[in-house]
Amino acid sequence: MGLPTPSASRERISRWRWLWILPRLAFILFVGGVALLLWMSDRADKEERRATLISDILWLEQNLRFHLTRNEEVLGRIDTAHTVSGAAFESFARTVFGFESGLRQLIWLGPDGTVGQAHPITMDPSLVGDAGEAVPSRQSFRLARSLGKPVYSKAYPYFTNDWQFEVHVPVSREGSIVGVVVGVYRIRDLLGDSVPWWLAERYRISVIGDSGKVLGTRSKVESAVTEEGYQVAFDPPGWGLALHAVPYHAPRPLASILISASLVILAMIVLWSLWILRRHVQRRQAVEEQLQQEHAFRKAMEDSLDTGMRARNLDGEIIYVNPAFCRMVGWPAAELIGRRPPMPYWADDYLDETRAIHDRVLAGQGPEEGFELKFKRRSGEVIDVLIHEAPLIDAQGRHSGWMGSMVDITERKHADERARQQQDRLQSTARLVAMGEMASSIAHELNQPLAAISSYCTGAANLLRSKVPTTEVLPALDKAVEQAHRAGQVIRRIYSLARPGEGRFETVNLAERVDAALALMDNEMRQKGIRIALDLAPQAAVDGDPVLLEQALFNLLRNAMESMRDTAPEQRQISIALTCADGYASLTIADRGCGIDPGVAGQLFDPLFTTKPEGMGMGLAICRSVVENHRGRLSFEANPEGGTQFHVLLPLAPQ
Ligand code: ADP
Repeated sequence: MGLPTPSASRERISRWRWLWILPRLAFILFVGGVALLLWMSDRADKEERRATLISDILWLEQNLRFHLTRNEEVLGRIDTAHTVSGAAFESFARTVFGFESGLRQLIWLGPDGTVGQAHPITMDPSLVGDAGEAVPSRQSFRLARSLGKPVYSKAYPYFTNDWQFEVHVPVSREGSIVGVVVGVYRIRDLLGDSVPWWLAERYRISVIGDSGKVLGTRSKVESAVTEEGYQVAFDPPGWGLALHAVPYHAPRPLASILISASLVILAMIVLWSLWILRRHVQRRQAVEEQLQQEHAFRKAMEDSLDTGMRARNLDGEIIYVNPAFCRMVGWPAAELIGRRPPMPYWADDYLDETRAIHDRVLAGQGPEEGFELKFKRRSGEVIDVLIHEAPLIDAQGRHSGWMGSMVDITERKHADERARQQQDRLQSTARLVAMGEMASSIAHELNQPLAAISSYCTGAANLLRSKVPTTEVLPALDKAVEQAHRAGQVIRRIYSLARPGEGRFETVNLAERVDAALALMDNEMRQKGIRIALDLAPQAAVDGDPVLLEQALFNLLRNAMESMRDTAPEQRQISIALTCADGYASLTIADRGCGIDPGVAGQLFDPLFTTKPEGMGMGLAICRSVVENHRGRLSFEANPEGGTQFHVLLPLAPQ
């Protein structure tokens, strides 16, 4: 039963410590899984964007090809009527420029390469290449003329920023080349005309030369581009030109950001709760260890006690016994715990009494000052125990049962009993001696006056018989009266046994005398199960003989105790009240005994009056004598609660 020892619990804790790996592992797996998921989703996103980029740039390349091919066809269909006059050529050129061909200049070259027409005219500096190089290039012209099909020139710079290239489209009539129409494309303008806005918003589209130089760009915004772009050959015009598209940095979708953010928050919450949990468990472990140490300490303390401890729940079932209790009754704890009344250690001859006190304790009415009981050892030996019961309060402050502490007082009881018997014997011897002394003193003292009375009376009788005058009889009768007075004095002297010497008077605290008288019969009272209820004014002091006053109180208390011989045990109570009022100390001793028969009430204070077989009948007589000798009064009346109450009234000592 009970908690494990601290070392056992430490072992248990370290054995299960590896369990902490599980939540950590789960957390790492969770975070890893989340990161992987995010990475995969990002990758899929990137791949999708790349696939879109590729298809977009391929589409653009197709579009440009279609654009350039259509322009070739349009230029190839030039009517010779347009080539003879500048105005006709200009109108042709305007038509061509009109449908967003991307062309910026048209030149008509004769079969020998001479410039026939040009629009806009070549004097415009924008139509002349860098360093005044003649446009179009001769090489492309010759190639177109000899091949009889359109040929594109190499791209060449146009002023500092722009690049352009040409398309040389040979025009033949009836099988012979009549000239070449040269269309000049400015790369930047071509991109501007043929790249739709939606594409330009997504990508930065550039044309790149064979050396890697950027020859023209369609760029809507100057914002940063992210990943590397994608490049396809730009053919026509060929010559190593390439179309290059780089996607702009697209903002991540809000949903993806939200998911990532919530996953990160979730991971942090998990981490935080793990940390909190761990801290909580560590605290619990520390508290548990402390508790175990405390428990071990208490157990050691309990085990070393000589006082038996026994706890019962509210139903009277034993829930705990300490080793001292087991030693006391001889039953092991295992056989006692869980037992209900009657308990195996209840003495057979006292079962009813034990059961009654047991029920009183369970009902919360057990005597607070403790009580004595007889228990039976397993060996059958009966022992006396002094028991104190206290309510058992649990950790929640609820009353959960009763805790009893038991002391084996068998030895002490035996010693007390022996002492009491000794004292009883002494007392009765003393009484007998006193009685004998008193009887002989009465006999001796009364003998003389009685003999004198007898002889005076006999003399008087004889005189009367011999008919002497009455006057002669009178002296004899006077003498007889005198002797009768003397006999009265003798009787008073007997009272003086209880009469204190005048010089022995002192200030006596009555409460202290009551305590002293009670102490004399404490054992006997306890044995008879008599409770004492005290209500004493501590300051009540009288002038008197302390020994005699104590003796008087002792007599009254003894009478009260003896009157309750046949009273039920729970009724056995003596109430002692001491008050001060109007210059008097008033002491009341009330019992719940047999009471006083009205028929004998008048003789109660008479010497030698007794109703007890072993009584002497001097107690109350001496009491009254003592009290009156202290200028006080002794009286009695019936106790309204049953029994008798004696009142002692004594004048208070002057302050
Ligand atoms: P004793 O005690 O020797 O009999 P006491 O003079 O003390 O002599 O008492 C005389 C008688 O008075 C007793 O025998 C008893 O009958 C009666 N008596 C005294 N005190 C009480 C009392 N408290 N209750 C009932 N009877 C009492």
